[in-house]
Amino acid sequence: MNEFDIAVIGSGPGGYVAAIRSAQLGYKTALIEKYDTLGGTCTNVGCIPTKALLDSTHHYMDAIRRFESHGIHFSGVNLDFDQMYKRKADVVKKNTQGINFLMKKNKVTVLQGTGSFVDNETVNIKGAGNQDISIKAKKYIIATGSKPSTIPGVVIDKKRIITSTEALNLADQPNSIVIIGGGVIGVEMASIFNRIGTKVTILEYAEHLIAAMDRDLSTELSKILSKEGIEIRLRESVYKTENLEHEARVWFKNSQGLDDMLSADYILVAVGRKPYTENLGLENTGVELNANGTIKTNALLQTTVPHIYAIGDVTGGAMLAHKAEEEAVFVVEKINGQHPHIHYNRIPSVVYTWPEIASVGYTEEELKKQDIKYNIGKFPFAVNARARAGMETEGFAKVLSDPLYGELLGVHIIGPRASDLIAQAVAGMEFEITARDMASVCYAHPTYSEVMKEAYTIASGKASVNI
Ligand code: FAD
Ligand code: NAD
Repeated sequence: MNEFDIAVIGSGPGGYVAAIRSAQLGYKTALIEKYDTLGGTCTNVGCIPTKALLDSTHHYMDAIRRFESHGIHFSGVNLDFDQMYKRKADVVKKNTQGINFLMKKNKVTVLQGTGSFVDNETVNIKGAGNQDISIKAKKYIIATGSKPSTIPGVVIDKKRIITSTEALNLADQPNSIVIIGGGVIGVEMASIFNRIGTKVTILEYAEHLIAAMDRDLSTELSKILSKEGIEIRLRESVYKTENLEHEARVWFKNSQGLDDMLSADYILVAVGRKPYTENLGLENTGVELNANGTIKTNALLQTTVPHIYAIGDVTGGAMLAHKAEEEAVFVVEKINGQHPHIHYNRIPSVVYTWPEIASVGYTEEELKKQDIKYNIGKFPFAVNARARAGMETEGFAKVLSDPLYGELLGVHIIGPRASDLIAQAVAGMEFEITARDMASVCYAHPTYSEVMKEAYTIASGKASVNI
């Protein structure tokens, strides 16, 4: 019997970060992963491959639509779909190899196989060729992540009715795709395929894309994506799909309440993800689930069995890689007697369309609902010198602050490099820096970040000198 101080099940951003932090703090650590590559959803079929393809297709789009206005002319631009996907695979490989290296460097024992609890103390690992080993650990951290979910009438066959995982591994460029769900996966996948000339239609049940996002941003996003050629159909409710071998069909009630149907090469199902606890043997433990299948945890991320913790997508809350990482460090440091904390309201979220979208804190709709008073400071990229120089003038920054004390309540950006601009807003919120103070420091000129300075200025009640 192998014995460990801490054993982590699942090697995604939650699991591998927990294993590294555990080893750094001197615990004898095991990391159990059922697949033969480490890194979980994020590294293998999530964050990393999507961003690789988003970057490649962005370059292609610039080449065919924008270089000419910069005075750059060339002919014979064409897309090598195989090479684009091969580069994506190389990027993934470098990242998974990086995680292997970190496991060796930190002396984490990696056990390949499906981990399954035999009881509260023991985990059995069924490896390749059905070879079993059993381990015992003083503490367990479950980080088994999530899998795509579906809706009634829609059976994912991984051939014509696919998820983001299959879309990231297509052999040929599709002529057409219908995406069910205009959430984060829906708009990122739509961007990838639309940019390379695939006809893309999004069917979304709600009245807005990415329903939880600040309304001003989702309205702007719809406008921009529609202008780029993506067909966005809101208030359409899908109820059936069918694989006809050479194409697929999707049936839905359209916004007028009438039955409607579309055909495409692929139907991509992006209607959310569900916590993954299959084959984990939780029925042999005292670990309880919530009604939605997530693992029940307390504020310390302990399950109903105190020495078994759970982090990341398999618990409730935002399904984000950096949320899983924060929880990983939190749990291990708590076990170590330290005093870490996580402010869930200060975890940023980013959508990697172009322009990008990044948010932290409350949306305007949430503030209204809670009857919290706020100031708004909104500033467009259209009048920012750097944005004009780079022809990146779409979008705006929107700061919501407390009218009395100036505390930042929410910051929402749709614009170039919003993913990087949000970092200073997170720091501002975390350390309770007021909108006035955020505006009072010097921002280099010309930079996109000057848009933030202007939005903070306006939110703090001063007039902008640039509009
Ligand atoms: P996971 O990454 O899902 O890892 C869980 C691991 O556990 C898997 O490797 C699984 O094989 C393993 N496992 C499960 N059960 C067992 C078992 N019984 N035994 C052994 N191993 C087991 N988030 C972002 O923050 N930014 C993004 O840009 C982003 N893009 C995304 C794009 C796509 C297409 C998708 C699908 C997701 C994206 N996400 C993104 C979400 C992000 O991938 C997840 O939030 C993140 O991976 C969750 O990490 P985790 O460690 O909880 O679980
Ligand atoms: P999501 O919850 O963001 O979006 C699902 C969408 O499907 C919703 O808008 C919903 O209204 C719609 N829908 C549900 N039923 C429908 C029906 N019958 N017909 C039409 N539309 C329907 O889920 P997702 O896009 O699948 O993403 C899953 C998770 O992955 C998210 O929680 C997200 O946080 C994470 N993720 C994050 C990133 C990122 O951080 N950039 C990228 C990709 C995924």
